[in-house]
Amino acid sequence: MAISDHVDFDKFLTGLKRRNPGQPEFVQAVREVAQDVFDFISDKEEYHAAQILRRIAEPDRVISFRVCWEDDNHNIRVQRGWRVQNNNAIGPYKGGLRFHPSVTESILKFLAFEQTFKNSLTGLPMGGGKGGANFNPKGKSDAEIMRFCQSFMTELYRHVGPDIDVPAGDIGVGAKEIGYMFGQYKRITGRWEGVLTGKGREYGGSLLRPEATGYGAVYFLENMLKTRGDSVEGKTVLVSGSGNVATHAAEKAVQMGGKVLTLSDSSGFVHDPDGFGQDKIDWVKDLKVNRRGRISEYCREFSKAQFFEKQKPWKVAADIALPCATQNEIDAKDGNILVGNGIMAVSEGANMPSSLEAIEAFQESGVLYGPGKASNAGGVAVSGLEMSQNSERQSWDSDRLNVTLENIMVDIHERCIEYGKLTDGSINYVKGANVAGFKKVADAMLAYGVV
Ligand code: NDP
Repeated sequence: MAISDHVDFDKFLTGLKRRNPGQPEFVQAVREVAQDVFDFISDKEEYHAAQILRRIAEPDRVISFRVCWEDDNHNIRVQRGWRVQNNNAIGPYKGGLRFHPSVTESILKFLAFEQTFKNSLTGLPMGGGKGGANFNPKGKSDAEIMRFCQSFMTELYRHVGPDIDVPAGDIGVGAKEIGYMFGQYKRITGRWEGVLTGKGREYGGSLLRPEATGYGAVYFLENMLKTRGDSVEGKTVLVSGSGNVATHAAEKAVQMGGKVLTLSDSSGFVHDPDGFGQDKIDWVKDLKVNRRGRISEYCREFSKAQFFEKQKPWKVAADIALPCATQNEIDAKDGNILVGNGIMAVSEGANMPSSLEAIEAFQESGVLYGPGKASNAGGVAVSGLEMSQNSERQSWDSDRLNVTLENIMVDIHERCIEYGKLTDGSINYVKGANVAGFKKVADAMLAYGVV
């Protein structure tokens, strides 16, 4: 950046912090993108004049609402729900719903902002949004979850629609919750339409949607490794999380010849020196989805494995890291440990799992680093394909979807190279993803004038 651009960037950052007090995650996400975008637009007056970055970093709207529900003991409970509609320049708002006690407006704004770039990168016509509630599904009965989902949708339905805003799942929102919300939307509006993705197969869901985020992260990894004439085959792999993204990333890594050494949840991680094969991954899926168990229970079933309470998997030596749990789960210290242990590549299944310091450590030491907005875009891409299938009242077969997903991940990788190739020939995937994602949205906004 030239000196005058540095001054502009600092001014932008100061204004961003002032306008968004107490929202560190949102500021972190915008700052990361803004650095690269400032570089890119330094000689492009039209983007400056139209204040494009300033406008993308201000959500179109943030809807916040009360969600009342009754628990099984007849206590009235009150949660807060949100939908952040960040930008719909290139298509209807699209992005998941997260139910977790840690959910705040800052986290949803960061996720909706990131989603705008991610969705643009897929090449499909989808804008960016995100939503959720500070509801903790852990320990709740099915009836409680159903009542919560119905109450949540009773407000949300007025803000969404197949051409307006199409939410999906995220942490704490899987097929079951999507089913309850879709049922309530249909009951209130009397319309069957593709207002949510991640639906069950029986009622308009797409094959491969559950697998798509995790599989896509491994396809992206394979593309990164290919630039160095390498592949996943024979590599040891650390995976964090044991939810939807983690188990499917582990599954694809195993299918491609990798050896997965770890899985985790919020209570700690499990190290299995023999590796998690498909049968063990299936066991974990059943544990987490059907029995709502803890990852520590794995060691009772598979005695060679060890559980490390309240710890993260990053200290285990391996070739590849796939963070698939949550934001900021790789801090500066973890990043340095991974680099010290000779990690070759990091492909993010989760959203913003690596802190800015960890990303710097990866980039300075030549680790192939795939940021979530590129590497985990396979999920929303197949959600986009679910929207297409709903519109044309068709169901595509899994071979067609898998080939399309693989191709989309190749295209995203190429877009990252187009804008992220440095003069020394190395690839800055963060820059590539940020600039490619920005450009398409920005050009659409320019076409609309000041709206
Ligand atoms: P799930 O709810 O299925 O799984 C989340 C996993 O992460 C669980 O194992 C959970 O453990 C663990 N986890 C959650 N919070 C923490 C924490 N603070 N510390 C350690 N572990 C934690 O969610 P998904 O797999 O769907 O999502 C995982 C990540 O991937 C998120 O960042 C999400 O935004 C991102 N993502 C998801 C997409 C999707 O298609 N589902 C698409 C793109 C990105 P526990 O069981 O103890 O809570």
